Amino acid sequence: MTKSSERPGGPPGDVLERVVVPAREGRAIQVGAGEAVRIIDLEGSQVGDLFAFVADDVAEYASAEHTRVALSRLFPRVGETFVTNRRRSILRFEEDDSPGHHDMLCAACDPTRYATLGVVGWHASCEENLRRAMAGLGHAQIEVPQPINLFMHIPVAADGTFGWEPAPSAPGDSVTLRAELDVLLVLSACPQDLNSINGPGPTSLAIERLGIRNVIGAS
Ligand SMILES: [Zn+2]
Repeated sequence: MTKSSERPGGPPGDVLERVVVPAREGRAIQVGAGEAVRIIDLEGSQVGDLFAFVADDVAEYASAEHTRVALSRLFPRVGETFVTNRRRSILRFEEDDSPGHHDMLCAACDPTRYATLGVVGWHASCEENLRRAMAGLGHAQIEVPQPINLFMHIPVAADGTFGWEPAPSAPGDSVTLRAELDVLLVLSACPQDLNSINGPGPTSLAIERLGIRNVIGAS
């Protein structure tokens, strides 16, 4: 039997839907405005490329570049809000049960990225994972936004260079986000295995839709 203490901030049984994202793959989930989702690094040291599209108009989506402007920060923190390419709030960063490293600088990996790194032939990528997941929801034509790279550790040096550190997240680490609009959320378990961002290698993630509960600031 699940103890409530295993889910800080929420009663047992509050997970309405759980989607496992296998290593190197992507999955989509529909999240209603006001509902929360928890993204879990199941095995540790795994980057999750997160995309969020407005459900009734996928031309509007969570935008890392617009969020950096809104926050005057390179990387997100709990209590802050991710905004869209039309500068509307789309996701609120509610809880962080991880070391707190999440990237907003790097584009999603794509086939050309892997070719540039010397891969011959096909290699899974976050862009393909995104396109496949959105096509499964009936959206074959989408922009590929710059993702929010959960658990990804990109330290920036004073001279402007940055590193590709292994994701420091441990098995079971998670972040919780609350949708401020009805969204189509896509999470890609990044297949990058030619640098160290995924530690010893790509592994799986999970998405839990928590519904509307424990709204911060609600009476
Ligand atoms: Zn990737």
